[in-house]
Amino acid sequence: MTYQVGAYLRLSRDDERDGESLSIENQRAIVTDYITKKGWTLIDSYIDDGLTGTNFDRPQFQRMIDDVRNGRINCVVVKDLSRFGRNYIQIGEYTDYLFPTLGCRFIAINDGIDTLEKENELMPFKNLVNEWYSRDQSKKVKSAKVARAKNGYFMGAYAPYGYIKNEQKQPPLLIDEHAAPTVLRIFEMRATGMGYRTIATKLNEEQIIPPREYYYNSIGKPNPKKGLKVWSDVVVRELLKNEAYIGNIVQMRKGTISYKNKTQVNRPEEEWIRAVGTHEPIVSMELWDTACKLANRGTVGKSNKDGEISLFSGLLKCGDCGRSMKFIRDSNTRKDGHRNNHHAYICCGYSQAGRAVCSPHRTRESIFSDLILNDIREKAQLITLDENAIIAEIKRKKQADTTSEQKAVEKKLQTLRHRLSELERLISKLYEEMVLEDIPREMVLDMMEKYKKEQQEKSILAAQLAEQLTHSQEVDNDIHEWVSLIRNSMGIDKLDRELLIKLVDKIVVGQKTVVDGVERQEITIIYSLVGQVD
Ligand SMILES: [Zn+2]
Repeated sequence: MTYQVGAYLRLSRDDERDGESLSIENQRAIVTDYITKKGWTLIDSYIDDGLTGTNFDRPQFQRMIDDVRNGRINCVVVKDLSRFGRNYIQIGEYTDYLFPTLGCRFIAINDGIDTLEKENELMPFKNLVNEWYSRDQSKKVKSAKVARAKNGYFMGAYAPYGYIKNEQKQPPLLIDEHAAPTVLRIFEMRATGMGYRTIATKLNEEQIIPPREYYYNSIGKPNPKKGLKVWSDVVVRELLKNEAYIGNIVQMRKGTISYKNKTQVNRPEEEWIRAVGTHEPIVSMELWDTACKLANRGTVGKSNKDGEISLFSGLLKCGDCGRSMKFIRDSNTRKDGHRNNHHAYICCGYSQAGRAVCSPHRTRESIFSDLILNDIREKAQLITLDENAIIAEIKRKKQADTTSEQKAVEKKLQTLRHRLSELERLISKLYEEMVLEDIPREMVLDMMEKYKKEQQEKSILAAQLAEQLTHSQEVDNDIHEWVSLIRNSMGIDKLDRELLIKLVDKIVVGQKTVVDGVERQEITIIYSLVGQVD
């Protein structure tokens, strides 16, 4: 069949800033080229210059519709749909209802829209729509989610690192043979008493790809998150908390405030839904328990043969070989023959294998005690003087570029949520239209499907962004927690193990050197929650 074509061209003032690509000449060239290639006849061009696309109150547009009605043209071609109009409901009235009824074909070249090719796509969505958009849709969706969570369906946007989503099937998660060994190693490292940061550092040294980056590699897309693509203490800590690794799926940990307000909030733990044994675990219960106990600290470090745990056990690391430092009872004999006993630590590597492996790094316990006490007091004083400056400084160091990144994410999230609420409104409006039967039902359903698709895609994206933000929030919380711990320790005059474990992640001990007859030894305190604080 050959077509008598009307070309519709429109330029509005809003479009001017977009430049040449939208010019009338450019539109005309694209449309003419298309028609010529098809071997159709161009009957007339209808040009609305300087008129908005938000309504159809345009003279040339109306003339074109008249020509459709009186049969002068039987096909309308535009460069893209936005030339035709910007109000989707109204566009739908023409493309899905009026044109087909009058036997007129409609083509939007760049959007790939052609009314001749889209018949009968509509019906399958009817049932979906009826299910989704009943008046109490919000409630329904929520109870459906709860039911799915209880049945152990995995509803996350992506599987935990080490697993692959088994879409819509049981078991909901399958082991990812490439990543699972790393998960197991992380738990094993933790069980030996390693700190989150140390584990992260080790994984980075071995150039193991971190979870998010790994996920995007696996789906062949670039990671949208900027910044360093590395393992961090936060990533390791979150991973060690995830019950998915022992075969449980815990969901509904976050919710929205209400149907209208989509702000994500953390739900209280008793409202979480835990489905047990839904899939194959990566980590044994025994290993999980050991690693969990360490998460609460307090038991880090081994006791010596007398059963006592030394003050710094598990916290000291050799600065050269990275091994732990071992507690020893040391003694020396003074010139007057008096024996002097004291507690000290030496590098495990040296202790086990001698100088071939490492140097002694021998240090008295009292040196650590004094050093840490002084450091805590100094920091406590600084906090009393200017708490905000300290917080800002730690933050700056800890997340050098994350602040600006966080702002960008917040902005993106805001835009997304705005569009989501707009979609919500459009969808409920469509629903009303369907009830009132102002617009043909099929058309409503078709548009509903488009909106629903967009809504789904954007919801997933929004959830991902919200998750990113929570992580930055946690960094903030960590810093505040540390500051209050230090402030509360201000008046102490003696260290105990409980406090040490709360405050300190590790202490890195260098080998003693003698410079100009003066003994020097570099000792670095890495604090819990915040790392090194200068
Ligand atoms: Zn060593």
